[in-house]
Amino acid sequence: MADDRQCAELDRVKLERLIPTTRERSLIAFRHELAVSYCKLGTEPMNDIPASTERRRQRLLAQIAKIGYALPGSLTVRHTRCSSAGCRCRAEQPALHGPYYSWTRKIDGKTVTRLLSAQQAERYTPWFQDARKLRALIAQLEALSLQAAEQAEGWGEK
Ligand SMILES: [Zn+2]
Repeated sequence: MADDRQCAELDRVKLERLIPTTRERSLIAFRHELAVSYCKLGTEPMNDIPASTERRRQRLLAQIAKIGYALPGSLTVRHTRCSSAGCRCRAEQPALHGPYYSWTRKIDGKTVTRLLSAQQAERYTPWFQDARKLRALIAQLEALSLQAAEQAEGWGEK
């Protein structure tokens, strides 16, 4: 780990090589100051990741490894009423039309819908479930990583 003096020395040498002219001394001084600041940032020790955090990460990865196919979007089931009078869907004890399965997803910001048969809906339901699981696991991994980085660097501590 470099201390402040080593950082300053390192960057002075580096800067003299980069900017050999004696003009713009203030600019060089400013850049030097900036470089020293960055150097110090880079050499701050990172505290160890706690073993419990690492175990939690391994568990999340193991769960992610079990994910099969992950189909984006969502599957919705609808029962509908038509417009013809006297239809069974408008009876006192209505028997609605359907079920109709539709798969909705966004492509380039536009919602795209595809109708699926009952068999297709059944076939792909686990794929939709796994996509949902995967999103939840990724969110957990991100939260864990954020927490680990904050702890390791002392960010957020007053
Ligand atoms: Zn009807």
